[in-house]
Amino acid sequence: MGHEVKRQMYGQKIECNHPLYHFKRQVWNSNVDRDPAVIFECKNDEDVIRAVHYANKNGLKITVRGGGFHPAGKSVKDGAVLIDLSQMNDVHVDEISKTVTVGAGAKIYEVDTITQEYGLAVPLGMVSNIGVSGLALGGGLGYLRGKYGLTCENVVGVHVVTGEGKLLYVNRFEHAELFWSIRGAGENFGIVTKLEMNLHPVGRHVLGIDVLYDFKDLQKIIKRVEEYRQSAVDEVSFNIAISKGDNGEVHIRLIGMYVGELNLLVEREIIQPLLEFATPIIDNTEILLYTDMQKKFDSLVGNSFAIEGISLFFEELGDEVVQMLISGLEKANGNVVVHLLEIHGKVNRISKYETAFAIRDASYLLVIDADIGSDPVHTKLWVQEMYDMLLPYSYKQVSYLNSSKVSEEVIQNSYSCIISQLVKLKLEYDPDNLFCSEHKLLDRKR
Ligand SMILES: Cc1cc2nc3c(=O)[nH]c(=O)nc-3n(C[C@H](O)[C@H](O)[C@H](O)COP(=O)(O)OP(=O)(O)OC[C@H]3O[C@@H](n4cnc5c(N)ncnc54)[C@H](O)[C@@H]3O)c2cc1C
Repeated sequence: MGHEVKRQMYGQKIECNHPLYHFKRQVWNSNVDRDPAVIFECKNDEDVIRAVHYANKNGLKITVRGGGFHPAGKSVKDGAVLIDLSQMNDVHVDEISKTVTVGAGAKIYEVDTITQEYGLAVPLGMVSNIGVSGLALGGGLGYLRGKYGLTCENVVGVHVVTGEGKLLYVNRFEHAELFWSIRGAGENFGIVTKLEMNLHPVGRHVLGIDVLYDFKDLQKIIKRVEEYRQSAVDEVSFNIAISKGDNGEVHIRLIGMYVGELNLLVEREIIQPLLEFATPIIDNTEILLYTDMQKKFDSLVGNSFAIEGISLFFEELGDEVVQMLISGLEKANGNVVVHLLEIHGKVNRISKYETAFAIRDASYLLVIDADIGSDPVHTKLWVQEMYDMLLPYSYKQVSYLNSSKVSEEVIQNSYSCIISQLVKLKLEYDPDNLFCSEHKLLDRKR
């Protein structure tokens, strides 16, 4: 009997003839169709260590699946060992230290649901099904970014299984350099099995700002956004989503959150200007539950989508950039969304040396997601053209690697300012290049 109970605590090895194999290899981007050698569905650290030993013994690379939401489907690779953490999703709040311990397979909604029982929250992303670990290891921009920063700087400790199969506890005192790298470039060094994160008092209700504007007002809106951003209070963060549908119609949606006490002054000075960047078509701004706000975009992105996308940071959005977006959208064939995330406040006050997410002076993140549609070749060319066109105007040519296709050029540009530290740590913690081999960090040994 005891033996039986113990057996259930272990995960399972899923090979290609297993009934769950095809289900388990799927990722959010349904255009990604890859066949891992084997999938280890892990339930605890020991399972993860066993999977690492299996990969080493069989000379296989490793991919890790947190939530499987990376737009380029990076958690699955042909012929590699896929370590699926989805069963490791326990969430525990420590009210005294105001921290939460999160199993690396937890999704955003699983964390939000529990932390909100205490009126607390970790800054997480803006779609509730995303995996917390992929988000945290690569950055993590959400509606709390102005007030409390990115997800990655709210990580205070992690448990990591290295390429040799060793379990390490990593924080600012223990393996401090690895701790720096985990928070921004974390997918390169091992398997994070648990994250400890800071909690903040956001309360149960927030103001959800949600306004639809006419596309003809884009230029005017972008100018007003920049004026607003320059003196924006930390409590407010927002995005502009410019979306073109199948019917060719383009809309601008401003969506954001205000977290803090509301009063007449706040409404007049802080909220009202956001609702008047141009004449609104619809204004759905309302007070709502924090957990509902976190789910606002869920129905638009669904459980899967076939997309191709790129991203770039910007210091400013000059007229040339706005013109490029307008002409690019005109040329786009199918469904396309251009997301503009404004950046100010806490994110920009963190030192660029504190985390491997070192983009601390940028003002915007631009993300372009294009539905692959019926003409994938055209879509891919269009996305590449947009990247090439926008690159010279971008901030240090850096992309948000959490939200971009994975090409040699994009990776090289994005890691250029931290490359020597990453190579050094790669040699120390993953010399056999088991993780994220497509980043080719070891090829850049000096
Ligand atoms: C619809 C949609 C909405 C999004 N919204 C936002 C948003 O609001 N804010 C934002 O910042 N980003 C957003 N993103 C990007 C998102 O943050 C990244 O895609 C992130 O990687 C997703 O995490 P995941 O665990 O689901 O990823 P996965 O696809 O599982 O993993 C992504 C990468 O991280 C590695 N990895 C994952 N878990 C671990 C681990 N425990 N240990 C080691 N390596 C690991 C994987 O191997 C892979 O390389 C969005 C993406 C999509 C598709």
